[in-house]
Amino acid sequence: MIEIDEKDLHYWLEHVKIYANNGKVADYIPALANQQPEINATAFYPIGDKEVACAGQADYSFTIQSVSKVLTLALALIQHGEQAVFSRVGKEPSSDPFYSIQKLEVEKPSKPLNPMINAGALAVTNMIRGRGSEEMVEEILNLVRLLTDDPSIEYDEEVARSEFETAFLNRALSYFMKQNGIITGSVEELLDVYTKQCAITVNVKQLARIAAVFANDGKDPDTNQPLLPSHVARVCKTFMVTCGMYDASGTFAINVGIPAKSGVSGCIMGVIKESGGLAVFGPALDEQGNSVVGMHLLKDLADDKRWSIF
Ligand code: GLU
Repeated sequence: MIEIDEKDLHYWLEHVKIYANNGKVADYIPALANQQPEINATAFYPIGDKEVACAGQADYSFTIQSVSKVLTLALALIQHGEQAVFSRVGKEPSSDPFYSIQKLEVEKPSKPLNPMINAGALAVTNMIRGRGSEEMVEEILNLVRLLTDDPSIEYDEEVARSEFETAFLNRALSYFMKQNGIITGSVEELLDVYTKQCAITVNVKQLARIAAVFANDGKDPDTNQPLLPSHVARVCKTFMVTCGMYDASGTFAINVGIPAKSGVSGCIMGVIKESGGLAVFGPALDEQGNSVVGMHLLKDLADDKRWSIF
């Protein structure tokens, strides 16, 4: 059992926050370009009905961006099962940037390599049940509300609109996949759902709780009630290890050694098996799109707490 308290979080966040100067906020989504690089926060949500520990601006809300890919994957697996989901998306890391289009053409059959790159996530979102985009978004929001134990979770309309209006590459990926029968229906409707799932807002305490559910094999970290089937939690955690940190996933596995997923808003959730969930937010990103403050914090905590699963 790994113990992480508020003192640890304050100490390490203080220690690493200077690294924000080495990164840049994402600006390809116009609304994210306004994020303040000096804002940072971290939280640890322990398993076993104990208090959440946090440091920094822990009530600050941000959009989850690519972290949503893990949640839509979980939802699609619950709704359709592994066979159906993996007929549309592969299980292998890509070693390309998350927005890359090139392997879609090279791979035969041309399904996206995994659900953590944009093409794969779009294929997965296309499977979410619902009559129209509104119902599909509501399904995704309801899962996030369940995992955070917070019925007030919503998405940020401005960030969603800003991405929708500029998501030319995600449109191109979607049309390519539609041509190849990987996705069906309206691409505009798919983009509407996808940009809204990416714009769901949480703070680090809520994100840490989501990670804690995965750390507890799909069960509520406080009550132990099942929230996700354990095999679904296991599949999601495996993808977090192999492809959760973009094209830095291999280095991250060596340096930090836990299932984790990051988003271009600057958030990272980390799953510490049987102990709890850790979340970090710091919008300045490195070249692969991971939070610089988050990567340093996780590396230092990993060395200190020796939590690597390897
Ligand atoms: N909404 C972003 C996109 O599709 C998510 C990317 C990310 O966080 O990696 O480009």
